Amino acid sequence: METVSKYFGCEVFNDTVMKNSLPPEAYNLMQRTIKNGKHLEIGLANVVANAMKDWAIEKGATHFTHWFQPMTGITAEKHDSFISPVSGGKVIMEFSGKELIQGEPDASSFPSGGLRATFEARGYTAWDATSYAFIKDNTLCIPTAFCSYGGHALDKKTPLLRSMQALSRQALRVVKLFGNEDVNFVDTTVGAEQEYFLIDRSVFDKRKDLIYTGRTLFGAKPPKGQEMDDHYFGAIKPRVLSFMKELDEELWKLGILAKTEHNEVAPAQHELAPIFTTTNIAADHNQLTMELMQKIAKKHDMVCLLHEKPFAGVNGSGKHNNWSISTDTGKNLLNPGDTPAQNAQFLLFLCAVIKAVDDYQDLLRISVASAGNDHRLGANEAPPAIVSMFLGTELSEILEAIENDVAYGKKEKELMRIGVHTLPKFPKDSTDRNRTSPFAFTGNKFEFRMLGSSASISDANVMINTSVAEVLKQFADQLENSPDFEKDLHDLIKKTISEHKRIIFNGNGYDDKWVEEAEKRGLMNLRSTPDCIPYLLAPKNVKLFSDHKVYSIEELKAQCDIQLEVYSKVINIEALTLLNMVNKDILPAVSGFVRELSAAYNQKKQTGLSLDLSYEEDMIKELSSLSGELYNQKSKLEKEMEKRESFEDMNEKAVFFRDVILAGMNEIRRTVDSMEDKTRSSAWPYPTYGAILFSVK
Ligand code: ADP
Ligand code: MG
Repeated sequence: METVSKYFGCEVFNDTVMKNSLPPEAYNLMQRTIKNGKHLEIGLANVVANAMKDWAIEKGATHFTHWFQPMTGITAEKHDSFISPVSGGKVIMEFSGKELIQGEPDASSFPSGGLRATFEARGYTAWDATSYAFIKDNTLCIPTAFCSYGGHALDKKTPLLRSMQALSRQALRVVKLFGNEDVNFVDTTVGAEQEYFLIDRSVFDKRKDLIYTGRTLFGAKPPKGQEMDDHYFGAIKPRVLSFMKELDEELWKLGILAKTEHNEVAPAQHELAPIFTTTNIAADHNQLTMELMQKIAKKHDMVCLLHEKPFAGVNGSGKHNNWSISTDTGKNLLNPGDTPAQNAQFLLFLCAVIKAVDDYQDLLRISVASAGNDHRLGANEAPPAIVSMFLGTELSEILEAIENDVAYGKKEKELMRIGVHTLPKFPKDSTDRNRTSPFAFTGNKFEFRMLGSSASISDANVMINTSVAEVLKQFADQLENSPDFEKDLHDLIKKTISEHKRIIFNGNGYDDKWVEEAEKRGLMNLRSTPDCIPYLLAPKNVKLFSDHKVYSIEELKAQCDIQLEVYSKVINIEALTLLNMVNKDILPAVSGFVRELSAAYNQKKQTGLSLDLSYEEDMIKELSSLSGELYNQKSKLEKEMEKRESFEDMNEKAVFFRDVILAGMNEIRRTVDSMEDKTRSSAWPYPTYGAILFSVK
């Protein structure tokens, strides 16, 4: 095997490849285009496309595709081959600049929330030149954004790129206040830690619920779950290890900086953490990571579950979005720094994030809302549905000292004068770390921990970037042209802390008392997807997005509709799957077992020996009564399901699915799980939780 440094990025048309394959002039122009996010001229595009094609063909590629991320949250691609016919029944391989910069996938079946009227069936894709092209499955993939001809975003990438620009614009104004004239733009960086489950293919294939919905709709509690805490960071099983090894290699070939792989809390649960990179690239890489996890698991006769809650009563999977802001000169703006000036700038950026999270709690909550993630948030394993921030004791004490103009310091107490005094060093080790906080400061970045494992990270970053951009704008407006910068800066920081400290909570987010406390503080607690999505259209949010040119009102309405529609669709599929399982497998299986018990009962009786019949008698009674109950419950659910097409309003429909359908499913599940506990193992139609969770030996 070659060394990693040799094959790292070998499937990527990256800077080194461009340098080697493009004429110097074209290379320089391309560099500039990437740096300034400028439109690619057709002349240059032709040169680049040709070099890209030659490179790709040499690597065995036969097709190309515009790779994009429709609003479904997964990726889409349509493959075209490079072939072009010439005389004599021959073909040559062609790829033009036009084909590189713009594509026209027939997009009519991607959700658009009404943005793309049917007469305008086509949207177009445009190359995001900041994200390198790469080869996957013999296909040259060009990362693109996807828009309607009216210019509306039809994907997750377009708003993300817009939000990065918005943040850069405003952050630039702020860094200039601190004399950083050499900065040209500000980037947001993200490292997305990904959790997932691996189970054996043979058990997966026997569970319709996993196949159709990605999660188990039934399953009695196994004798052993995660209570021993013996899986977390435990020794990795050989089969899983060989999966991880192959995954790392494939990711590295694609230039993805997979860094650490370890076991997670639940049995069969694992995590992968990459090294951070620019946000849009991190989003692309996370999509590729999820795709490769599923593909490679199959090769190892396993299935990778990315659902947020595959198993009730067992920890679900999330994604941690580590986020920071850095200048093109390489300075991390959330790094406290060593000098008073750096500290002052850090405090201002910190306050901007605090105010942004407080002012736009609803948006952060919306960005992680899905039917799957609703099972996690607030279920004592993931952060609660309430958005709050963790800063750690040290930093919180400093903010408190600033707010109250009191002395700070363990030994020599001194008044913190921003821009004059230096901040103490913050401990970076993980002891001072709160695992239950939704939004935690971890030394030089924030970790947003509410994302579901299957989600695209784009939505969350759109919200963070745009809300922070807005606060930075307000700050810059106030501080630019200030006659006494130091004083105004101090006052602004002080005011921000005092007005927004309610969002800071360093305690245990899993504690029920926090829910009460948060309510007293006036924080939002938006428990489910239908509860939070409508806030997307709150006037303050519409204004935010239009001021920063991230979403138009039409795009927001479309977002809203799509999210609610997807929510209803997911539960609809789950309910249909559940009913199928009850009707075709569970009721017949239990009935068969009761028949078997009855036969045993009769045979024992016929012996005339007055044998103890209590087991048979009790089980026949209990299971018959549970079957009757289940039959009624499922008939009721079937009746309710008939109403599902009658809703005009998307939100009413989503609420119906939550309050009626999902509630009915939960009721049914309780009955089924207690039937499972009473039925002979081999008579039960599905692998049990124990068999699934411990299926990978
Ligand atoms: P921790 O000790 O907080 O776990 P790590 O260095 O292991 O820190 O980082 C956890 C994740 O955070 C990784 O994905 C890492 O790349 C990411 N990360 C680190 N620094 C930054 C940053 N400046 N911006 C975004 N993500 C970052
Ligand atoms: Mg983490």
